[in-house]
Amino acid sequence: MKIYIETYGCQMNEYDSEIVRAVIAAADMESTSDIHAADVILLNTCAVREHAARRVIARIHEIHHLRRDAPALIGVLGCMATNLKKNLPKRKKLPIDFVAGPDAYRRLPELIRAATTSDEVPYDIELSDYETYADVYPRREGGINAWLAVMRGCNNFCSYCVVPYSRGRERSRSPQSVVAETQRLVAEGFRQVTLLGQNVNSYRHEDVDFAELLRRVSEVPGVLRVRFISPHPKDFPLHLLKVMAGHPTICKHVHLPLQAGNDRILKLMRRTYSKKHYLDLVEQMRSIIPGLALSTDIIVGFPGESDAEFEDTVDVVQRVRFDSAFIFKYSERPGTLAARKYPDDVPEAVKTERIVRLNEMQRQISTEIFSAQIGAVQDILVERQGTKKSAQQSQGRNDANIMVILNSATQVPGTMVRARIHDATAHVLKGKALDD
Ligand code: SAH
Ligand code: SF4
Repeated sequence: MKIYIETYGCQMNEYDSEIVRAVIAAADMESTSDIHAADVILLNTCAVREHAARRVIARIHEIHHLRRDAPALIGVLGCMATNLKKNLPKRKKLPIDFVAGPDAYRRLPELIRAATTSDEVPYDIELSDYETYADVYPRREGGINAWLAVMRGCNNFCSYCVVPYSRGRERSRSPQSVVAETQRLVAEGFRQVTLLGQNVNSYRHEDVDFAELLRRVSEVPGVLRVRFISPHPKDFPLHLLKVMAGHPTICKHVHLPLQAGNDRILKLMRRTYSKKHYLDLVEQMRSIIPGLALSTDIIVGFPGESDAEFEDTVDVVQRVRFDSAFIFKYSERPGTLAARKYPDDVPEAVKTERIVRLNEMQRQISTEIFSAQIGAVQDILVERQGTKKSAQQSQGRNDANIMVILNSATQVPGTMVRARIHDATAHVLKGKALDD
């Protein structure tokens, strides 16, 4: 049996696909990267915005068409799976053969076998309070960075968000299992580990909190860089900031989702902080971790967001000056509190206007921040020799996770090189290794 897997959405899904590959291999099924050769095609899906969900549906039809002469089994995994049960009777409309939710991957071989023999659509979308896959060693595709999920699920129920419904409650795996996996990663040649969680800094296992976990991972010999995503602004105690400041392997970069800058909207979103809290937190972070890079997520056009309320978001973007920002139009998700209570009443044209304006503003800020780095010497963790544009370059990232193009191909992936930055755009830096 040959299995092909396609992954949509966030880094957690990329990691989950690696878990799935491990489960499949343990069941003596083979992975293939050739969709035409596959007996089973898995789509690991995202439900966070309607656009992502629609893309997957279109892709299912496309695959069905592509393989019409030699049909393969099509399975839906991940965040859309949880919602699909309602749609199963409409199978003729959606040609899928089985469904597995984010906590059902151990049962995947069984579901695949059941799908080959049954006319029904086997499914397991049960969400677990305990499943962390801590004992499954993911089949990673190589490279320098390894994803490592330390907690799963979310208890926050931000009013717009489907994640607590599609991924269930928060649960953390033991720090011992995280450290052991990090040691194994390093032995295999990975140099950076990115700790993942829907709400990574609310990690807690017995008396070990996120700060302590981060400290232990950062001290594993051979780890050059440790990152984490996505944290929530509510879980940044002082001692976490001190651990970040005090450990050179922990990157001085925080992705700090803002979502909105207006207090009324933040309250409707159930984000649990105000504009002032957020700005104070940024100030505290920057005073404890000098040179800290910040990135963020923003939603424009939440139900009822007025022009004046949107200006509060603009104000935060101008004051904080994020290194980068992911900006989304509000997308109503069935079953969420916002979908039940607040009509999606901001016109599409207004959402577009707001996203265009913020993106333009952010592009300018990023360009200014990156241009100011011209002349600076930075540590670049090399990821590969050769770039899309030229075999004579190499490519890596700085501590802030910004891509840096180096103007020679002699740098070895996995090594840290010191380079002087000589050029910048809104998205990449260019540099030259000091010893080149
Ligand atoms: N757990 C993470 C990521 C959640 S999803 C966190 O809390 O930050 C990633 C991003 O998608 C969110 O930060 C938010 O900006 C965006 N998002 C989530 N639900 C959305 C929705 N209904 N419409 C538009 N954007 C949404
Ligand atoms: Fe969604 Fe909020 Fe949980 Fe993030 S913290 S996953 S935005 S509910």
